[in-house]
Amino acid sequence: MWTVDEHRDDVLSGIAPLPPADLPLLDAQGCVLAEDAVAATDLPPFDNSSMDGYALRSGDLPDDTADGHPAALAVVGDIAAGAGELPGVGAGQAARIMTGAPVPPGADAVAPVEWTDGGTGTGRPADAMTAAVADEHVLVLRPVAAGAHIRRRGSDIAAGTTVLTAGTVLGPTQIGLLAAIGRGTARVRPRPRVAVLSTGSELVQPGEPVGPGRIPDSNSFALAAAARAAGADAIRVGGVPDDADVLRAVLAEQLGAADLVVTSGGVSVGAYDVVKEVFDGYGGVDFRRLRMQPGKPQGFGRIGDGPGIPLLALPGNPVSAYISFELFVRPVIRTMLGAPDVHRPVVRAVCTEALRSPAGRRQFLRGRYAPDGTVTPVGGAGSHLVGALARADCLITVPEDTTALPAGSAVDVVLLTD
Ligand code: AMP
Ligand code: MG
Repeated sequence: MWTVDEHRDDVLSGIAPLPPADLPLLDAQGCVLAEDAVAATDLPPFDNSSMDGYALRSGDLPDDTADGHPAALAVVGDIAAGAGELPGVGAGQAARIMTGAPVPPGADAVAPVEWTDGGTGTGRPADAMTAAVADEHVLVLRPVAAGAHIRRRGSDIAAGTTVLTAGTVLGPTQIGLLAAIGRGTARVRPRPRVAVLSTGSELVQPGEPVGPGRIPDSNSFALAAAARAAGADAIRVGGVPDDADVLRAVLAEQLGAADLVVTSGGVSVGAYDVVKEVFDGYGGVDFRRLRMQPGKPQGFGRIGDGPGIPLLALPGNPVSAYISFELFVRPVIRTMLGAPDVHRPVVRAVCTEALRSPAGRRQFLRGRYAPDGTVTPVGGAGSHLVGALARADCLITVPEDTTALPAGSAVDVVLLTD
């Protein structure tokens, strides 16, 4: 029998990050950058106004402008954001300018419109830009320091700067930054494509009528959702009956389209354990028993031509399947993604209840972790208890050699919250 750690190490030893690919920015969300991103140009790319107002020459404004001596400047143009052709601003002149518009040649400062009369001729502070008026003059009511309200070219990022380093996980602000430096794509580790299929002749797809002895297939949903939560693209293949030929045909279909195959069910010692039937003795797939509860029977290997792709065959009980996914499949996905955090965080917590655990097995009990550092089991040890599983946010770990723990014991807790 294998320990949990031996099995996990064995599974991960053959897994590497996927080769980098150039993805459209939004498709790269949540992915890991595979190369440094360098700004090709300055950001901002040109001096531009941070306010709606008037671009002017600060030296034109007398020092006593604020003391009832407004400066009258001739308005020579109107510069909207995106303007390509700019009027020159000479002595005694100003140009109307909007936020983000290029500062015109000759101007060295911007007076916000509220510091002017907005060209109304009233001499009273304006509260907004109005439409341009022919032969407009603007009264500037306050002095303006050289450089005021100008966002300098390159003041955010200078051309040649490395803005993001390889290994960065691309969230919204990093994606925004890549767009800001003009990148339409990002070179990232792509999301692994994970084919999830569940086996069992008892399975019907949720929403379909459930006949006698049949149950809805919940594993393919839970595992596909877990694969997505881990950062993969999940391909959910619905229930496959316990028929070796059907399973072979379904797998053959998925092989070209997937980086990883995850199955549930059919790996123990029952008469119709179809995954085991198909792969036992198939080169490279090994069925083993782990020193853990739940999740004792596990299959692992590579399938398909050439180097093939990894197959993780999980037990069918829904709690076993899910915990096996968390412990063994999620780290595979995270490794393929090149993610910095491959494993779930583990914290110490004080268990509020006494625990019993089988000898020789590492037990994973469902629990709820509280901010005060305590953890409380939910539901029992049964691996069919999906109601309790859905209320849990962590796994309480009881070591192999521990069979009983009194309430108040310190335990390791695997946090499942994303
Ligand atoms: P197995 O590992 O195939 O022997 O299945 C163990 C238990 O899990 C049985 O009670 C199955 O009915 C149940 N089970 C297997 N696959 C699924 C599934 N996809 N959804 C819900 N229950 C399942
Ligand atoms: Mg089965």
